[in-house]
Amino acid sequence: MSTIFKKIIDKEIPADIVYEDDLCLAFKDINAQAPVHILVIPKKEIPSIAEVTPEDQSLLGHLFLKAVKVAKKLGLDQKGYRLVVNTKDDGGQTVYHLHIHILGGRRLSWPPG
Ligand code: AMP
Repeated sequence: MSTIFKKIIDKEIPADIVYEDDLCLAFKDINAQAPVHILVIPKKEIPSIAEVTPEDQSLLGHLFLKAVKVAKKLGLDQKGYRLVVNTKDDGGQTVYHLHIHILGGRRLSWPPG
């Protein structure tokens, strides 16, 4: 089932896009939890990381490499940042289209709530 992220991919609703290629899109989270909060999503509709298959191996590598590239472009690579993949209800996932959160620009606490 499609989510709001599919509408962002299809440019049916606006987003503040910071990176795009044929496989993925990175855009600012509408409810930022840190000074920098970006979502990296595949254009392929995968509900969560729990649904990936071996066929997605290179796509997953692509997403993480691009997340690292975006983090660097936004100046996070020196002080650090966090990549998060919330997964299903207990993981706090609210949008069922796989996404990597890039969080940075402040010291993040651990463990998460
Ligand atoms: P999660 O809770 O891990 O599923 O993360 C979903 C994220 O999507 C949340 O941090 C939301 O703030 C964000 N979000 C939802 N709708 C939009 C939107 N239209 N544009 C940007 N970010 C969104």
